[in-house]
Amino acid sequence: MHTLFKLLLLLPVALVADVKVAVSYPYIASITKEIGGDEVETIVLAKGSWDPHFVVPRPSLIAKVRAADAIIINGGQLEIGWLPPLIKRAGNAKTVSGASTYLDLSKYIEFLERPNRLDRADGDIHPQGNPHFHLDPKNVLKLSEVIKDFLINIDIQNKIEYEKNHQNFTKKLKEKMQEWDAKMADKKGLKVIQFHNNLAYFNHAYHLINIATIEPLPGIPPSSKHTIRLIKLIHEQKPYAILHDVYHSKKTAEFISSKTAIPIIEMPHDVEAKDGIVDIFTLFDYLTDAMR
Ligand SMILES: [Zn+2]
Repeated sequence: MHTLFKLLLLLPVALVADVKVAVSYPYIASITKEIGGDEVETIVLAKGSWDPHFVVPRPSLIAKVRAADAIIINGGQLEIGWLPPLIKRAGNAKTVSGASTYLDLSKYIEFLERPNRLDRADGDIHPQGNPHFHLDPKNVLKLSEVIKDFLINIDIQNKIEYEKNHQNFTKKLKEKMQEWDAKMADKKGLKVIQFHNNLAYFNHAYHLINIATIEPLPGIPPSSKHTIRLIKLIHEQKPYAILHDVYHSKKTAEFISSKTAIPIIEMPHDVEAKDGIVDIFTLFDYLTDAMR
């Protein structure tokens, strides 16, 4: 056989990954790629620069869910407004809750801000507690183990590969965690304000104290009454900065900053939320740099 023809026959086999895993957010893709290596292809549904609560369920996303062999979601109701209808319309048995190929990461995490009551008086979009748990590196460590076990369960053939990748990932992550801890050491005890409490777990990890949010409740837009209260609070408590996400308007934060002289620091919540943030490592590199 002609050499070139032989090569063409071999190529598709070498390039096609064993398992196609749909994931809701880029941070999940990053961890899954680290563990899955060449054996796994990740299909990301939401962009890192979007509000994770409010993704538009476009038809192209339905096709992505339909093509998947498995799905990994954040859970904790973060995707409640957009992912269940996509999964329903995709009609793919492998991506239905309860399937062995469906993984809900929130099941393995201890939540912060879990409400004591079941009404929605604390806001509409965090009814089970704060779902932004990937912004504590310790949780990333836990999630990498959960994803490793999940991949082994659905693709036992590549068990050794997944275990080896997981070992390498955790080694690197633990080293980086020491570096981030060192960078954040002198920030311990500082007070901060946020627009939305995306950074609850980051603040918990590095001992920052969130004293207020610009939105009065999770998912509720700023009001002038609340903004005036915030300005008073800032004068009294002198927080370090307003930590702001990339996707809400900074108009109210800029107004508050102009009245109080506290700075606004942009703190991306996910991988790919800003240029240069290409994986879970560069996300925490960015966040810990931004705080300096
Ligand atoms: Zn939220």
